[in-house]
Amino acid sequence: MESLDKIKRNAEYLLKTLPSHVTLLAAAKTRTVEEVQAAFAGGIRYFGHNYVQEAQAMITAANFKATWHMIGHLQRNKAGSAVELFDMIESLDSIRLANELEKRCAELGKTIEVLIEVNSGAEDNKTGVIPQEVGPLAEAVSDLPHLQLAGLMTMGPLSGEAELARPYFRKTRELFEQLRKANLPNGDVRVLSMGMSGSYRVAVEEGATMVRIGTLLFGQRG
Ligand SMILES: *Cc1c(COP(=O)(O)O)cnc(C)c1O
Repeated sequence: MESLDKIKRNAEYLLKTLPSHVTLLAAAKTRTVEEVQAAFAGGIRYFGHNYVQEAQAMITAANFKATWHMIGHLQRNKAGSAVELFDMIESLDSIRLANELEKRCAELGKTIEVLIEVNSGAEDNKTGVIPQEVGPLAEAVSDLPHLQLAGLMTMGPLSGEAELARPYFRKTRELFEQLRKANLPNGDVRVLSMGMSGSYRVAVEEGATMVRIGTLLFGQRG
């Protein structure tokens, strides 16, 4: 665990070294409100969480206003709380979930931005849709008036050297370009969320517009 001052300096350093077109999102799972606040003090304005209940407690307790993204697998029975809490869902992985989010957003009179999570081919990674399903899911989303497709997210391989992730990031970038060209209604495709602490440099080289960083910012998880 890093000291709060170290977290603030890590945030400042990362923000300074990333290209200006890349958004830094702090992955806040397992962290304390104080740690997240230190990252905010260092200039980070985008935060991601994997778990709806923990995120709810954190967002309620936080004494600052930031943009929150759901980055973990979302169960349909949590869709209602998720659309109330988050500004973006990065982990859309099925038409059934899209329909549930649409229904919940309609009830709230709110629209929400979503990223389709792509299982870009890494065998150890079971989350997200396979590349062939991205197009059909994107078209389904474009029919849902309360969802706005903003782009794609991928994890890539969960272990191994960063260089091993490159082909998966490249493949996801290709899908992203296809999606932009498709120009579907109800969308503003501009976010390509890929790269974590070990792989973010490679992801940025391959076209990421958003990187999701936990360990490098906050230290090893407990
Ligand atoms: C935890 C997590 C991250 C950050 O991982 P680090 O390796 O700690 O930087 C990024 N994205 C998702 C979806 C995560 O769950």
